[in-house]
Amino acid sequence: MARKDDYYNRAKQEGYRSRAAYKLKQLDETAGLISRGDTVVDLGAAPGGWLQVARELTADAGIVVGVDLQRIDAVEGVETVRGDMTEDETKAELREIVGEGGADVVLSDMAPNMTGEYTLDHARSVHLARQAFETALDLLGSGGDLAVKVFEGPDVADLREEMEREFEYVRAVHPEASRDASSELYLVAKGRLTAPVRAGDTLEVGIEDTGREGDGIAKVEGFTLFVPGTEPGEEVRVTVTDVKPRFGFAERVE
Ligand code: SAM
Repeated sequence: MARKDDYYNRAKQEGYRSRAAYKLKQLDETAGLISRGDTVVDLGAAPGGWLQVARELTADAGIVVGVDLQRIDAVEGVETVRGDMTEDETKAELREIVGEGGADVVLSDMAPNMTGEYTLDHARSVHLARQAFETALDLLGSGGDLAVKVFEGPDVADLREEMEREFEYVRAVHPEASRDASSELYLVAKGRLTAPVRAGDTLEVGIEDTGREGDGIAKVEGFTLFVPGTEPGEEVRVTVTDVKPRFGFAERVE
């Protein structure tokens, strides 16, 4: 296992612009974020270590876009935007670049300028993480993933809970390449949910079809809900029990 300060030297030797590059490699190994051909948006991307890694992982076949307050020296095959992610103008520019197809992965390594006053630094970090979360909701297609840096503290729990409502699941990851004393963690949210329903919702549905396993199939605004123990033609009241990016399950309420 590499000593933490070895990452700096390793980055120099291996041609990465920052030691942070290894954090993205470790996040990707842990959570399976980036695949060949993906559209990846990287917020707080300067000096560009994550952009280099994202480019490798998309294998020259995808679209990689980096945004930062600071200028980012050109990275081959990567588009960059100089802008502030707390401003609507930057978000709109990003939306334009990503286009109709949406993004597969949104990454944020944004960090505030540190004041040394923990409560303030924590609050600012959570604010930036929220900007990344909002951007992810806007840009990610169904099933897309978000990984966002945040400094540990009391406001992380609320943010995580909000993220849990919008993704299949969320986990906290501390990459080995983060410095020893660092309070940073990454919230990794997998499987963006765009379904018009959420677990716990109760609604009336019409059963239209039967699935391969014999469950009734209802459509809610085009979204497929499997309802065991029902038949086509029935109108039933159901409670949604589980929602995946492309389908969900519900049970009949008597
Ligand atoms: N992941 C990068 C890499 O691998 O080279 C390192 C990112 S560095 C830790 C954090 C970056 O977040 C800084 O470059 C900073 O300028 C940027 N940042 C902070 N607030 C921002 C904001 N509101 N909009 C855009 N970038 C921001």
